[in-house]
Amino acid sequence: MQETLKALSISDVNPGGFAGDWMGGGKHQTVVSPVNGEKLAAVANVTPAEFDTILGKCHAAAEAWKQVPAPKRGEVVRALGDELRKHKEALGMLVSLEMGKALREGLGEVQEMIDICDFAVGLSRQLYGLTMTSERGQHRIQEQWHPLGVVGVITAFNFPVAVWSWNTAIALVCGDTVLWKPSSKTPLTAIACTKIAETVLRRFGYDPAICSLTIGKGSEIGDLINTDPRVALVSYTGSVPGGRHVGKLVQERFGRQILELGGNNAVIVSDKADLDIALRTIYFGAIGTSGQRCTSTRRIIVHASIYETFKQRLLDAYRKTSIGDPREAKNLMGPLVDPAAVDTLLAAIETVKAQGGKLLIGGEKLPLPGGCYVTPAIAEVSGNLDIVKEETFAPLLYLMKYTTLDEAIALQNGVPQGLSSAIITNDLVESERFLSVTGSDCGMANVNAGTSGAEIGGAFGGEKETGGGRESGSDAWKAYMRRQTTVINFSGKVELAQGITLDI
Ligand code: NAD
Repeated sequence: MQETLKALSISDVNPGGFAGDWMGGGKHQTVVSPVNGEKLAAVANVTPAEFDTILGKCHAAAEAWKQVPAPKRGEVVRALGDELRKHKEALGMLVSLEMGKALREGLGEVQEMIDICDFAVGLSRQLYGLTMTSERGQHRIQEQWHPLGVVGVITAFNFPVAVWSWNTAIALVCGDTVLWKPSSKTPLTAIACTKIAETVLRRFGYDPAICSLTIGKGSEIGDLINTDPRVALVSYTGSVPGGRHVGKLVQERFGRQILELGGNNAVIVSDKADLDIALRTIYFGAIGTSGQRCTSTRRIIVHASIYETFKQRLLDAYRKTSIGDPREAKNLMGPLVDPAAVDTLLAAIETVKAQGGKLLIGGEKLPLPGGCYVTPAIAEVSGNLDIVKEETFAPLLYLMKYTTLDEAIALQNGVPQGLSSAIITNDLVESERFLSVTGSDCGMANVNAGTSGAEIGGAFGGEKETGGGRESGSDAWKAYMRRQTTVINFSGKVELAQGITLDI
């Protein structure tokens, strides 16, 4: 543990604010590992006055940064990716220690950071605008893209480093600066990443405030970000209630926003499915990251003719789940993030039962150090009960039955959230129907691949209460820039649009 902290320059007490200088005059917070309940380190939160200084410096840094040519900005992001490669083992371990996910998932998360840097480097030589034909002779119309300024990146605990990098790598090549407010549950990984970015920016001679950090209470520091017009774009990843609050405040000042909120992801298992594929994708989708991914599989909708068979296979797999210290390779499931998350799971199970569901397996608190370990649960339900419509951010999987594909799609779509979805089938007609306009209503719809996880190349995000935002891959970069439509007249005379003539 000490070796990991040392490798990432984490001290006993760490200032939680950065904009060229480190600062932290606010309350001290002790960070305890859910892995064993031991203290990792302490963080000194920023005060509102320090926040103002940090944002001021980050805002000022944007002025020079936006004038650096995009391919040169890409060189910085390439170096950031290289630095992350060097720190992959330590950072992956810190993710595991601070948040509790299995070490191989922690390492996978850092790999995603590296991959998005590569993606962004390529992007730095693209950022294409369109040209259009003009209705006027010897005129040209084009669209060009300019940086926005400061991007406020507010992140959730469950991907403590990847979400920052998805936003930051893209924002940097787009010419924006980044002000990061991480979850108070995972401040140490944020400090480690900011130190890595600081090293790179200093090496290139750029203002390190380009990657600023502000750690503090969400309701206090978060609201300062939401309401300050110097933050051009707020990219918020978190729960639906949180997003509803942030969305209103940012909209009120006509700021831009990317909302990446909760999911309630279902897999339809058809009677034409390969059940081995179904079992593997659903099992890992439900228990990976201890059910704490926004894309975790939370509901499975199984054809009545294979329901009992599939249920027994799934229960057998659940019985074999190895749970324990996430640093040990044999353990697929580590702890939940904190004891409160355990209470949330146990309370949800009681509510499921009260609403008519039946607990088939799991949902027990394990007597392991730290008090955050549980067995993953499956509950059988008759459909989307009220509790099923909510995202319980824990390993609780709902199992339900269908007979027609229409019914399965209605169940899949019958929740307020719309992040990720999947169908397991070898029937072309079924899969096409699932992907069609009358199929899944989610931002992500997969065939013979699970709901959980995403490749960085595709735009990531969801519909309905998931917020509609898209970050990272594909053309999501456009959300980090402002579009300017330009008319250039090289005719030597004035020709007005819409055929208007002037007699002057
Ligand atoms: P959360 O909503 O509790 O917190 C998210 C962030 O919001 C934290 O940094 C928190 O400090 C901050 N915050 C709190 N009050 C704020 C305020 N007034 N203004 C601004 N920020 C404020 O979420 P969590 O428990 O950390 O993460 C789990 C949730 O995040 C789940 O719902 C999960 O589905 C969602 N999530 C979504 C995605 C996605 O891409 N769709 C990805 C990861 C997590």
